[in-house]
Amino acid sequence: MVLALYQTGALRGASTTKVAASGAVSVPDVRFDDIGGQAAAKKELMEAIEFITRRDQIARMGIRPLKGILLTGPPGTGKTLLAKAAAHHTDSVFLAASGSSFVEMYAGVGAQRVRDLFRRARETARKERKNSAIIFIDEVEVLGARRGSHTSHMEYDQTLNELLTQMDGIAVDEEVQVLVMAATNRVDMMDPALLRPGRFDRTVSVDLPDKEARLAILQLHTRQKPLADDVDLEAIARQTFGFSGAHLESLANEAAILALREGLGQVHQRHFVEAVDKVMLGEKLDRKPTPEEKRRVAVHEAGHALVGEWVEAGSVATVTITPRGQALGYVRTHPADDRYLHTRTALEGRIRVALAGFLAEELVFGEASTGAANDFDQAVRLARHIVHAGLSQLGIVDPETLNRDLEGAVVQQIIADQREMVAWFLAERRPVLEQVAEILVDAEVADGDQIRRLLADAPPLPPVQGPAVPVEA
Ligand code: ATP
Repeated sequence: MVLALYQTGALRGASTTKVAASGAVSVPDVRFDDIGGQAAAKKELMEAIEFITRRDQIARMGIRPLKGILLTGPPGTGKTLLAKAAAHHTDSVFLAASGSSFVEMYAGVGAQRVRDLFRRARETARKERKNSAIIFIDEVEVLGARRGSHTSHMEYDQTLNELLTQMDGIAVDEEVQVLVMAATNRVDMMDPALLRPGRFDRTVSVDLPDKEARLAILQLHTRQKPLADDVDLEAIARQTFGFSGAHLESLANEAAILALREGLGQVHQRHFVEAVDKVMLGEKLDRKPTPEEKRRVAVHEAGHALVGEWVEAGSVATVTITPRGQALGYVRTHPADDRYLHTRTALEGRIRVALAGFLAEELVFGEASTGAANDFDQAVRLARHIVHAGLSQLGIVDPETLNRDLEGAVVQQIIADQREMVAWFLAERRPVLEQVAEILVDAEVADGDQIRRLLADAPPLPPVQGPAVPVEA
C-alpha cells in the first residue's frame, strides 16, 4: 500500500523537483524571488523558518522548535511554491503529500502512511546529508478535519492522531530537524488540536494577488517569452481582478499558444487580451447560434454594456457575442482599481448592469429569454449583500435570525427600484442599443471606445423621476 502511494506520485514534489538516484526528493529549485507578490506571506514565512537556519542559537536559548506552519488561502495562490521556497531557503529536503492520499477505507493505513512520511523525511535528509526536512501536506483539511466529523471517523481519527503524535515527537536536538507545512483553504474545518501551540502554531495567510502582485506574477511568467512592443502587462494586471497566480500563469501560457497558432514569433497584446477571456470563460465554441439567437444575444450584451457605461463611465473594455465556455456572449470591464469595499450605490449599480440584458431583450423583442437566469442570480445575491451588510432600510441585521419573508420583500424592492431605472434608461437609449447590437451581429465584437462614441453622440438624457440616477464616483 505504502509503496503504491509513493509510486503513483502522491508525493507531488517528485514530479517537479530533482529526484535523487535513490528515488528521494531533494531540495527544490524554487526561490522566494520566483514567487510574485505575497510580500507579507514571504516575510512571515522567512521569519518563521529562521529557526532552521539559526538552529544552534535556538537550541542554546532553549527555544522549542517551530513544528508546523499552516498556509491558508484560495487555490492556486502559491502555497506549494512558498513551501518549496522555504525548503530551498533552508537547504532542506522536501516531501509533499496530499491530505486525501492518507485516506483509505482500511483502518490503520492512513496512520501507517503518516509514520512512513516522517520516517522517509528523516531518512532522505540523512542520505542527502541535510540537517532538515520540510514535509508539505496539501489539502490538510481532509486529514485534519475535526475528529468525529467524518462518517467513517475511526480511520480519519487514527490518521489525525498519528499526525499529532509525530508532530509532538519533533525535537530540537534531533539530527534532522523536521518542519511540517500544511495548506488549506478551509481553516474553519481543522481540528482545534492541530492548531494548538506546538503543532501548527503559525498561520500564514496567502491571499489572492492585488494589482501590483498580479503584474509581478505576469512579469515572472513572461520572462522566457518573446513579447512584442505593444504588450502592456499593467493593463492586463488591471483587468484580472480575482485571478490567482495559477490563473495568471495559465493566461501567460495561453497567450503564447495563441501567438504560436497564428504562426507568429512574438506574443502580442491581443493574445493576452484573448487569453484573459479564455482563462475566465473557457475555450471558444464552434456552436453556431441561429440568426435570431445571435440578434437576441447581441441585444442582451449591448444592454449590459450600455448600462455598464451609465453606471461607471469608461468601464467597458469589450463586448463580444462569440460563444465561449458556458457563456453565449459577455462584456468585459476594466475597473480603474481593485475594489474590496462597496457602497450601496455601487452595489445598486451592479444590480442595474445585471438586469440590463434581460430588460434590453424585453424592450426590443417584447419578451425575455432564459439566457438571463445567471444575471438574476447575481442581482439577487447583490441585493442580499446590501441587506446583510446593513445597507438597506432594515439597518444592521443578523443574517442568521433575519426573517426570510422580510428579507425576501426587501430584496425584491431593491431589485424592483433598479429595474424601473434600467427600463427607463434603455428606453431613452434605444437607438444606441440597436446600433451596438447591429455592430455585434456583424462583427461579433465591439470595443468600449466605439460604444462610448455612440453614447456621446446621443442627445442628453431627460431628468428622471423616482429613485436618484446613479453614477458611482
Ligand atoms: P492549491 O491550493 O490548489 O494546491 P497552491 O496555492 O498550492 O494551490 P501553487 O501550486 O503554489 O498553488 O501554484 C500553482 C501554480 O500557479 C504555480 O506552479 C505557479 O506557476 C503559479 N503561481 C501561483 N502563485 C504564484 C505566485 N505568487 N507567483 C508566481 N507564480 C504563481
